Amino acid sequence: MKKAKTDLKTYKAKRDFSKTPEPKTSKKSVALRHPVFVVQEHYASHKHFDFRLEIDGVLASWAVPKGISSDPQEKHLAIPTEDHPMDYATFEGIIPEGNYGAGTVMVWDIGHYENIKTQNGKLVPIPDCYKKGRIEIELFGKKLQGKYALIKTKSYGKDYWLIFKMLDSYAGKPIKNKTKSALSGRTMKEIASDS
Ligand code: MN
Repeated sequence: MKKAKTDLKTYKAKRDFSKTPEPKTSKKSVALRHPVFVVQEHYASHKHFDFRLEIDGVLASWAVPKGISSDPQEKHLAIPTEDHPMDYATFEGIIPEGNYGAGTVMVWDIGHYENIKTQNGKLVPIPDCYKKGRIEIELFGKKLQGKYALIKTKSYGKDYWLIFKMLDSYAGKPIKNKTKSALSGRTMKEIASDS
């Protein structure tokens, strides 16, 4: 496996914290009973969404160009990116020009998740699911609800994953407030006009 363990080295190496307001540490949330998930909308050089799951005290992360759908037929590409610190879950604002990932970030959705991946009737620990490339979780967000899967795939020739809705009573239901922050209720435009 390429990424056997989560860590923040790459995250820190890519950023100059004297120049960007992004968090450096993981002091929040590790003691919460329910692990955290967050989806951030990010208008960088390419507009995309970042899907992050708390695993082993950091936020394991994927860039999802098309965002998350509630339609089980829509399997979206999720490209693994560097682990982010826990405090990043509530980061919303502007990464200044000249910095890594420069652009506006919105907390598109935030909540907790439950690991539901079982094998032979037993729950598979989430770090093992991540290592094996087969994650099944139930999301309790403000927008995203119900069961989702993240599956590592070879069909694109690389270490890519697919994220998609699993069948349940939330499948196919429209996602509400798509254009507004789950944290502040602001639009991308409103966040971008911060100074
Ligand atoms: Mn991003």
